[in-house]
Amino acid sequence: MLSEFDIIARYFTQPCRRTLLGVGDDAALVQPAPGMTLAAATDMLVAGRHFFADANPRQLGHKALAVNLSDMAAMGATPRWAMLALALPEINEDWLAEFADGFMALARRHEVDLVGGDTTQGPLNLCVHIIGEVPVGCALRRDGAKPGDQIWISGRLGDAALALAHLQHRITLEIEALDAFLQALHMPKPRIALGQALRGIASAAIDISDGLVADLGHILERSGVGASIDFAAIPKTAILGRHAANPVAREAALAGGDDYELCFTAPLSEKARIGRIAQELELPLTRIGHIDAGDKLVVRDETGKAMNIERRGYDHFA
Ligand code: ADP
Ligand code: MG
Repeated sequence: MLSEFDIIARYFTQPCRRTLLGVGDDAALVQPAPGMTLAAATDMLVAGRHFFADANPRQLGHKALAVNLSDMAAMGATPRWAMLALALPEINEDWLAEFADGFMALARRHEVDLVGGDTTQGPLNLCVHIIGEVPVGCALRRDGAKPGDQIWISGRLGDAALALAHLQHRITLEIEALDAFLQALHMPKPRIALGQALRGIASAAIDISDGLVADLGHILERSGVGASIDFAAIPKTAILGRHAANPVAREAALAGGDDYELCFTAPLSEKARIGRIAQELELPLTRIGHIDAGDKLVVRDETGKAMNIERRGYDHFA
């Protein structure tokens, strides 16, 4: 039987590149580069709440880190150091090996060092803590949106929510579309390069984890502004048109969580630069509306009529 220390040594100890002292001591030692601010975030995935207990462990390892990297992207920060607190019901080496592979593959891709954590027995729970660096004064915060700013979205919204709805039998997706949507749900791509490119350009940013309406709502609240967006302008899969009668489809783009795309605001004068970023990153960036001086979020349908936005995204305590 593996001990806690065997597990750490076998699966969670890797050579560190940018770290003074990594796994194995009472605390890790990290040193930000001169002129950098540290950005820190944590996100927990709980079995039965954020994923099914029998979920693919490699995908879970990826997602546990990806959702944290997404918070770095939303701040315009470069992720550097991760910590992993794990509660495991039992020691299953196959599960651990797959989980660690998924986690470490993504960490390597973004040159993130796993520098510590905690491993304990208990109901399956994955908690990642991430620390990144951003040049002093350059972080993308939620509170900088100004009336007149344009609202932008990266990629496409709703795919992850559609995959989840399919798994929960609330919608039946065409088989040819399903693979890509499941990929969006299980293997989200944190938009790190976009966040970094938006330093000095975006006035506010957030990653979409709980749905566009809820997450844009956080920007509006923190910035003390309102917004108007066009439903038709929101980048979403063409598949939605075929399911227009299903309320699940209608809600996916507005209230569906788990997309981990970035929503950001920027003055109109930045339009050309944002267009160039989209080209360089080969990532669609779409304008969906603008910030105004009010205090409401208005979503207009194809005819210009204000839609009734009922579901405000995922709230764990609602
Ligand atoms: P302590 O008892 O001082 O809290 P632990 O015995 O819990 O230390 O952990 C020993 C070392 O292993 C520490 O450096 C800790 O950060 C690291 N560690 C524990 N669990 C993990 C994990 N799941 N992933 C990465 N590092 C871990
Ligand atoms: Mg400990």
